[in-house]
Amino acid sequence: MHEDKAFLGAYGWTAAHEEELSQLPQLPGQPGRVIGEERGGYEVVCGPGQVWLAQLPGGERWSAPLEKPAVGDWVWVERFEGLTLVRHRFERTSCLVRKGVGGRGGPQIVGANLDKVFVVSSLNRDFNVRRLERLLAAVWSSGAEPVVVLTKADLCEDPHEAARAVNAVQGVSREVPVEVVSAHHSLGRERLQVHLGAGVTVGLVGSSGVGKSTLVNWLMGQEIMETSHVRQGDSKGRHTTTGRHLLVMPRGRGVLMDTPGMREFGVWNAAEGVERVFGDIEVLAGQCRFRDCEHNGEPGCAVQAALDAGELSDQRLYSYQKLRREAAYQARREDDNQLATHLERKRRRRFAKMVRRKTKGSPKC
Ligand code: GDP
Ligand code: ZN
Repeated sequence: MHEDKAFLGAYGWTAAHEEELSQLPQLPGQPGRVIGEERGGYEVVCGPGQVWLAQLPGGERWSAPLEKPAVGDWVWVERFEGLTLVRHRFERTSCLVRKGVGGRGGPQIVGANLDKVFVVSSLNRDFNVRRLERLLAAVWSSGAEPVVVLTKADLCEDPHEAARAVNAVQGVSREVPVEVVSAHHSLGRERLQVHLGAGVTVGLVGSSGVGKSTLVNWLMGQEIMETSHVRQGDSKGRHTTTGRHLLVMPRGRGVLMDTPGMREFGVWNAAEGVERVFGDIEVLAGQCRFRDCEHNGEPGCAVQAALDAGELSDQRLYSYQKLRREAAYQARREDDNQLATHLERKRRRRFAKMVRRKTKGSPKC
């Protein structure tokens, strides 16, 4: 067991998990981390050479989409008769959620217990301020710390191009660290290593083709995934793997979560992060004459004054208002879902009670 704990330490097992474990009723089984998700279940690593494909037992406990384990989660698994079952999911330190693609577009977990998230953008042509605002809002809301990574520095012909991009990032947020790298020329690795460390889990998000797989391979120091080749013209990458995976980096550098095949990142309920990305606007809004100012021509509006003075751009204000509206709508939907789940549980309990009474044959009035 000790050997397993040291092994799990490299995956980020901490004293907080031990503490939570001591609060749980004694259960047969062992702790592990979800390193991958397959259609048939969760890949859970529990020790050296011990990766089990675990299933969720039935029951309503896991019915809400954000309650179910996801890649990055710590779980307690029990193995018997060739089956591995998830018995408990540990509290999360962070949970990165995006809007699911297709269907009703409900929330979908990208990764749990990420400490940092590299928001990857390529210096050649991908850079987009509006997308960055949305991604930063999502990452901050998740509880993880974002780091903006600008890739493919070797492709910059103009030496000032990288500096301009860094300035643009700082225009979005002064708080977020920005690192310029080139995996092809092995530039900036030591800058990224500042954000890595033993037991630290780092996720990567960014459009397809920006160089995420290349970055993972470079940091891992070996070929883990086959890098995609961006097709000329439509910039869509071709991916060989589709699942998210946790990889432990050599020499105690921590854990990477690769997100291959993620083409888009729709923001889900990023209210907290929105406040942080748009701190400047929140401060201005606090100075408006009316508490409920909608910054729409009201007298004494500090936001309007900043727009007039050229200190704030229309686009930034528009992004802020749009993200706030989205977050409010999604929060309402989450509340509705929670209420629906609660009512459904109550209904089932009533039904079970009724069945028990009937089968006992002693109906009570
Ligand atoms: P992903 O879709 O974000 O995982 O992107 P990939 O890692 O598959 O990279 C997309 C394309 O960008 C590939 O053709 C890579 O060879 C190329 N690429 C990645 N990093 C660099 C870099 O540092 N410099 C240059 N010039 N090309 C890069
Ligand atoms: Zn106002």
